[in-house]
Amino acid sequence: MIDKFLRTIRYLRISVTNMCNLRCIYCMPPQGIPLMEHKEILSFEEIATVVRHAVKLGLTNFRLTGGEPLVRRNIDRLVFMLASIEGVKDLAMTTNGIFLKKYAAVLKKNGLHRLNISLDTLREDRFSRITRGGCLKDVLDGIEETLRVGFPNTKINVVVMRGINDDELEDFALFTLERDVEVRFIELMSSGMKSMADDNKFMPTAEIFEHVEAVGELIPIEPKIGSGPAKKFKLKGALGTLGFISPVSKPFCSNCNRLRLTSDGKLRSCLITGGEVDIRTILRTNPTLVPEGIYQGGEALTHAFEHAVSLKPPIHSGVTHMAMHTIGG
Ligand code: SAM
Ligand code: SF4
Repeated sequence: MIDKFLRTIRYLRISVTNMCNLRCIYCMPPQGIPLMEHKEILSFEEIATVVRHAVKLGLTNFRLTGGEPLVRRNIDRLVFMLASIEGVKDLAMTTNGIFLKKYAAVLKKNGLHRLNISLDTLREDRFSRITRGGCLKDVLDGIEETLRVGFPNTKINVVVMRGINDDELEDFALFTLERDVEVRFIELMSSGMKSMADDNKFMPTAEIFEHVEAVGELIPIEPKIGSGPAKKFKLKGALGTLGFISPVSKPFCSNCNRLRLTSDGKLRSCLITGGEVDIRTILRTNPTLVPEGIYQGGEALTHAFEHAVSLKPPIHSGVTHMAMHTIGG
């Protein structure tokens, strides 16, 4: 599918739940969010139907996200279902890593290709404060298990916040010396969370880069065609790499190749602006769509995808008060 600004759409990010076992200060309110009724959430069969249809429309890359995808019961079964669909070239997951020690092996066995793990600090007390109660060791154990079971191209997402974790950028860079991971520094996006409202916590990539450069020479890495929005580097002699992602100071909209599916079945055209199309209603009013392999009536889904693609804005406004837990970041 090609949108009206000539961007080819190949990538669907799928939020499988808006629930989470953490309450990161930039993402969730302390009390969490209201529970959705089970029937509001797309079933695994419905998600698989959407993915099968997306493949027919030319999408090849898929990512499971949340909320926290590993809190969705039997998520390993969904991974198996999606990995088995012919035409799914890349199936990845973004997770906070808390449950990875338990899940990494079965996710690998069931066909997941890659993992992105979010980790904003390497200090225990700080981790507990940023996530409002999480345990750092769970994530570190999860990362080691991910590497042990042989996932390639593992990425560690670090949201940089001035005055909160900006004194750890060097430590994160050093983390790549002996681990084959890509640490990616991400600019903080405005989420409307009260905890972050006393602004000035935003730090632009240019400044983040200066801090990281202090550790040692950063050797640029040529981007692979179709690789994500990160600018990549390597410290001399390091096993892993470093990436810098600038959704605020340098939005990557001109190369945007993605759509998003929320856990309650809205196909969103953009993380920030643009519109959304309700595909849950389509799935449930065309029940023949749901059982495996049956596509009668699939035109409605095709139209929904086309509509969502047509709503993609050329560039987002950069200003958002978006609850990331709803659309998966
Ligand atoms: N729970 C999973 C996790 O934390 O990896 C997946 C969902 S989370 C919403 C996806 C990503 O969005 C995480 O890497 C998180 O750090 C990022 N994120 C959430 N709120 C953000 C914000 N305000 N600015 C930048 N990144 C944000
Ligand atoms: Fe949960 Fe991920 Fe949001 Fe943190 S960033 S509260 S782990 S959904």
